[in-house]
Amino acid sequence: MPLHSDFRSRHLGTTGSELSGLLEEVGYDSIDRLIDDAVPAGIRSERPLELPEALSESGALEKLRGIMSGNTVLRSYIGQGYHGTLVPTVIQRNILENPGWYTAYTPYQAEIAQGRLEALLNFQTLITELTALDVANASLLDEGTAAAEAMSLALAGAPKGKVMFVSEACHPQTIDVVRTRAEPLGITIEVGDWRTFEPSSVEGFFAALVQYPDTLGRVEDYSAFFAKVKEVKGLSIVAADILALTVLKAPGEFGADICVGSSQRFGVPMGFGGPHAGFMACTDRLKRKLPGRLIGVSNDPKGRPGLRLSLQTREQHIRRDKATSNICTAQVLLAVMASMYAVYHGPEGLVAIAGKVAGLAGRLAGSLKAGGVKVLADEGFDTVVVNVQGEASQLCDKAVGSGFNLREIDADHVGITLDETCGPDDVERVCKFFGAAMSEEGETGWIPTSLRRESEFLKQKVFNSYHTETEMLRYLKRLESKDLALNESMIPLGSCTMKLNATSEMMPLSWNEVANLHPFVPAGQSAGYREMLSQLEAWLAEITGFAAVSLQPNAGSQGEYAGLLAIRRYHESRGDADRDVCLIPLSAHGTNPASAVMAGMRVVGVACDDAGNIDVADLQSKIDEHADRLSALMVTYPSTHGVFEDTIVDICERIHSAGGQVYMDGANMNAQVGLTSPGRIGADVCHLNLHKTFCIPHGGGGPGVGPIGVAEQLVPFLPGHSELGDTAGVVCSAPWGSASINTISWMYIAMMGAEGLTEATKVAILNANYMARRLAPFYPILYTGNKGLVAHECIIDLRGLSAKSGITVEDVAKRLMDYGYHSPTMSWPVAGTLMIEPTESESKAELDRFCDSLISIQGEIMAVANGEADPTDNVLKNAPHPAEDVCADDWSHSYTREQAAYPLAALRRHKFWPAVGRVDNVAGDRNLVCTCDSVEAYAAASE
Ligand SMILES: *Cc1c(COP(=O)(O)O)cnc(C)c1O
Repeated sequence: MPLHSDFRSRHLGTTGSELSGLLEEVGYDSIDRLIDDAVPAGIRSERPLELPEALSESGALEKLRGIMSGNTVLRSYIGQGYHGTLVPTVIQRNILENPGWYTAYTPYQAEIAQGRLEALLNFQTLITELTALDVANASLLDEGTAAAEAMSLALAGAPKGKVMFVSEACHPQTIDVVRTRAEPLGITIEVGDWRTFEPSSVEGFFAALVQYPDTLGRVEDYSAFFAKVKEVKGLSIVAADILALTVLKAPGEFGADICVGSSQRFGVPMGFGGPHAGFMACTDRLKRKLPGRLIGVSNDPKGRPGLRLSLQTREQHIRRDKATSNICTAQVLLAVMASMYAVYHGPEGLVAIAGKVAGLAGRLAGSLKAGGVKVLADEGFDTVVVNVQGEASQLCDKAVGSGFNLREIDADHVGITLDETCGPDDVERVCKFFGAAMSEEGETGWIPTSLRRESEFLKQKVFNSYHTETEMLRYLKRLESKDLALNESMIPLGSCTMKLNATSEMMPLSWNEVANLHPFVPAGQSAGYREMLSQLEAWLAEITGFAAVSLQPNAGSQGEYAGLLAIRRYHESRGDADRDVCLIPLSAHGTNPASAVMAGMRVVGVACDDAGNIDVADLQSKIDEHADRLSALMVTYPSTHGVFEDTIVDICERIHSAGGQVYMDGANMNAQVGLTSPGRIGADVCHLNLHKTFCIPHGGGGPGVGPIGVAEQLVPFLPGHSELGDTAGVVCSAPWGSASINTISWMYIAMMGAEGLTEATKVAILNANYMARRLAPFYPILYTGNKGLVAHECIIDLRGLSAKSGITVEDVAKRLMDYGYHSPTMSWPVAGTLMIEPTESESKAELDRFCDSLISIQGEIMAVANGEADPTDNVLKNAPHPAEDVCADDWSHSYTREQAAYPLAALRRHKFWPAVGRVDNVAGDRNLVCTCDSVEAYAAASE
């Protein structure tokens, strides 16, 4: 077959003779011999993967189109937290469908991420303004988990207590997620009517959660209730509708301490449940405990404003077992879209949209009432609930026959929710359905006068400047070009697997039958989705060697949590409720201990030896010490140090014989697929990061999918969902979490097939070993396994060079930007090192260009060490160098402009310029500024 005639050879960076060249450099004449040496024989799979024959790009698209045509996209008036929305096409094409945005990494390297950091700062500003609270984070995973995070935040921020009140009129899926999260933490959830609940009469009460407008569409005045909550020093949490907040009094104005919700209806398609950005805002007092990421404003050495992730040291990898949240991957791309929706429409546009929706709903309510239909409320926003006296089920079925979905609330109640895609014909159609005539006028005072929003919002310049398409297009482009993404150069992030996100994999996201399905439609309407998802589950079960897979968790962290919860429930089912000790190697990712704590486990650390392997003697002593309390071991494989430990099978056996279960963190699955598997190694459960191994792009820090695979005995404990008829262990608002983006992984597996996937793993391992060989003469490789080989990533040790020169890993990371690169993973899992993961998708030319850059940088470090370069005024300490500085008339450095900007000849062909100089971390954390400036501030500054 000619080269590049199939998808596999487009996905792999090297094939054919180029591959042989790489092998030769590593000292092998065949890739299989290399793999035999790198991967211990004792864990190799006994048979090849059984997956369908690989399809071509066009073939896979056609196949998926056929499957997804099994979905029926009707007009849905279901609401319940998910709404039809008009994605502005300028945003769809230039963000959602643009690799410049969707292939970027999490903005840890601020200087090459100013574009998305600005968009996220806009998101935070949007949320603080709409909620009238002081601080908002840069997104959470969905509304249900945001409410659960709010519970944990309240628990940490309120006086002692373990009872939380949840209004029965919250969205049911939110109540389910909160219940799941409360149980392991020992929190009692009291669900009831807020009108009759007396906070002072409940011992241990610490917080109350209500919905606004509530799930029945009622707009309630909670101010008196919140005053009662405050009297007993409890915290008040509101789950709010983002569009309603543009016309309703803001939660911060009636006493809320925390407000959460979903930003989906701000221009993000429903996608059968996700992904969308959850949001959270809180009062100033709680800001340092706020979960998720917070963008702040700092400055660079020239005093230019520089945005960055604030309070990074407080992130979960530092807090570990003291963490109250495990969130890592969030919903950056979707938060960016939602913020741009607000930028595009501006405050007046948003109010007009909300006004239109409320106007239609009011007209519907009025018409129905005039027609004798029993309408539940005289006031509301977008939802009308009618009492149908036991007929709900039949009526909803009948509606489907007429081409639309109503919400079946209970036997007696049906809900109709309108959105910005609706018009008078929708109202007319529903009126007709209920036998009423559409009246000319709406319900007067439909939005209750006392709860109308009076305060202004979004006066900031950015929300009032880009309302024409030309201006919007250029704003998006301006931000995009400040950011380095995979369409610029390789992003060799250890553990994060930044591989190709192929265009064909991304295309289906824009299909109507993928984008526009409500997650709670009757099962028959989502047949296409169900088929695609169950195929993907089966393929992932085969790949992991497990009995079953759940796609519900919407990030790796959520998979960890769901997996540990399954273990917890398994032990409980056997009368082993005391088993609560979770052993975690000290090298583990920070989400591991955070998830264990959230699952009600006690974290016990296990040492690693000098070679980066789990110290088996220490492990055994911890097993012995906690034998009858042992719940689980969490282990990453290949280890976070990038080595295949050959003791892994023995380790799993030791845990099992002590009655424990083995949780494998599957972030490194890119080194396993087709060669070995968690099931083969002896694990009982593992999560995958589909946004690492299975080609979902990082989106600049999210979305993700973190499915879990489990062995037979854990199958009964996979996450449930009310839509699936089981409400135990619900970890996410939607039954299949971020359902729509699973099409990406489906396409990848369908196009690669068993052989292609296995080949990818082999090439990933080869590429890592090639880079290790090239870099070893310049930087020591920290850990190697069998025969001096690494797995799919390698750690280069800078500590020796740092000691000699005073140049830190951070200096190297910043200097790499001048070479047009994003740094590898910095100082994790070992301080003072860089962890490089090339993946299978990079060509030899790109691997070489990156190695050349690191080798050149080593020369620059040596110049400092030898005294040839100034110890403080050098290319590394002053990196990165923005164009403005290099072009400035005034240049007083001890090195040349050319050395600063063009250290390698290859850069003359193409140069990526960092947008700002090095952003000051300390100043940013000391002085938290987490919203963009108001017009007044701009005006004041220009005076
Ligand atoms: C990425 C990663 C996680 C967390 O996954 P998220 O999707 O970011 O929540 C956990 N463990 C390891 C080793 C990882 O690399």
